[in-house]
Amino acid sequence: MAWNGPTTMPNTHQASRPTRTCAGCGRKGAQGELERFHQEAGELAPGAGPGRGAYTCRRLQCFERAVARRAFSRILRRIVRVDPSLSRLYTGH
Ligand SMILES: [Zn+2]
Repeated sequence: MAWNGPTTMPNTHQASRPTRTCAGCGRKGAQGELERFHQEAGELAPGAGPGRGAYTCRRLQCFERAVARRAFSRILRRIVRVDPSLSRLYTGH
């Protein structure tokens, strides 16, 4: 049984990939693997839109945590109302 040492190696070649931070748990992920939100007239709206974006992991837990911490309002730099039905984005698929 040979021990080949740690299998995790630092990979500096991926440093230029854009990463975003989850508003719920603070985990960083590639832009494509996080759910994006923007605000429209003070309402949190899913998907890409004008202005700043807020991101969460694709986990309902992170969305709820972001809502509880008012992280969306902080990130989007204005008070946003969060429609509870947005949670369907996480449970619908
Ligand atoms: Zn998260």
